[in-house]
Amino acid sequence: MSHQAGSGIDSPGVQLVAERAVASFPVRELTYFLDGGPEETRMRERFEAIIEAEPIFRRSCADYSLSRPERYRLAMRKQLRLCELIKELQLTGEYATAGSDVRALRLAVHDDIGTDLQLLMFIPNLKATFSDEQLAHWLPRAEAWEVLGCYAQTELGHGSNVRALETTATYLPDSDEIEIHSPTLASTKWWPGALGRTANHAIVFARLLVAGRDLVRLSLSLSLSLSLSLSLSLSLSLSLSLSLSLSLSLSLSLTLTLTLNLTRAFTTSSCRCATWRRTG
Ligand SMILES: Cc1cc2nc3c(=O)[nH]c(=O)nc-3n(C[C@H](O)[C@H](O)[C@H](O)COP(=O)(O)OP(=O)(O)OC[C@H]3O[C@@H](n4cnc5c(N)ncnc54)[C@H](O)[C@@H]3O)c2cc1C
Repeated sequence: MSHQAGSGIDSPGVQLVAERAVASFPVRELTYFLDGGPEETRMRERFEAIIEAEPIFRRSCADYSLSRPERYRLAMRKQLRLCELIKELQLTGEYATAGSDVRALRLAVHDDIGTDLQLLMFIPNLKATFSDEQLAHWLPRAEAWEVLGCYAQTELGHGSNVRALETTATYLPDSDEIEIHSPTLASTKWWPGALGRTANHAIVFARLLVAGRDLVRLSLSLSLSLSLSLSLSLSLSLSLSLSLSLSLSLSLSLTLTLTLNLTRAFTTSSCRCATWRRTG
């Protein structure tokens, strides 16, 4: 006897139902545990039902033979429908917050959309780094998707090594503007994903140059002199309680640690972000 794929008695779906029925533990309790609680399970199931009823979110084997432009356009249509659903369902949560209604709706889609970083990286970074005045201008536009942003940190020659970024952000006092420049091939902003071509704005991580001075390098020399003065006071206090030779070796190793820590702290905080309007 032959069975149609997926519907026969031996199909994975039927086998799963049979296995679940004889589970030795309360399946629903485990579901609650995995979701985070009964309320989260109810929310997930509600949103999955809504998403499954929407033709645009249905997946088929044909999706695998789409060209990249076709897949990109389909993802944009999915993002648009998601935005409409958030309004229709009057969801108010933050996408970046685990357990929120907006995030639960997005997770019910079970697909890459390519514009996720607008909600996951761009808007949270605006909130974390902008002044109240800047936020009042940019946030409503970003939340309305009028400003669509990408996160331009990685460079072709500098992945995790953010301290070595080469792109510069030069402050121009005459026009009160910041000029962004990637002067070499290695400094080309470069990362996977679709937002680089979709976005009309970006958060750019760069070395901040003010009046011809690189503030990252300036902070490096500052941290060095600070750590030297700290090591001096440490060796003095140690020499009071320990023998002279011991205090000398201890103070040397402490100096090294302090230098590394301070250097890291200063360089991290010296990476500023800037927004610029793409004109091309
Ligand atoms: C799906 C996806 C989306 C992304 N989107 C963005 C985006 O929108 N914007 C953006 O700016 N970036 C984005 N990134 C990040 C970016 O593309 C790089 O993957 C990331 O910066 C790491 O750089 P790399 O791949 O060159 O790895 P490398 O930095 O070369 O690291 C390679 C390996 O070396 C290790 N390593 C690196 N430095 C050190 C060290 N000092 N000591 C010891 N080990 C080290 C790393 O842990 C890693 O295992 C994205 C990445 C992914 C995967």
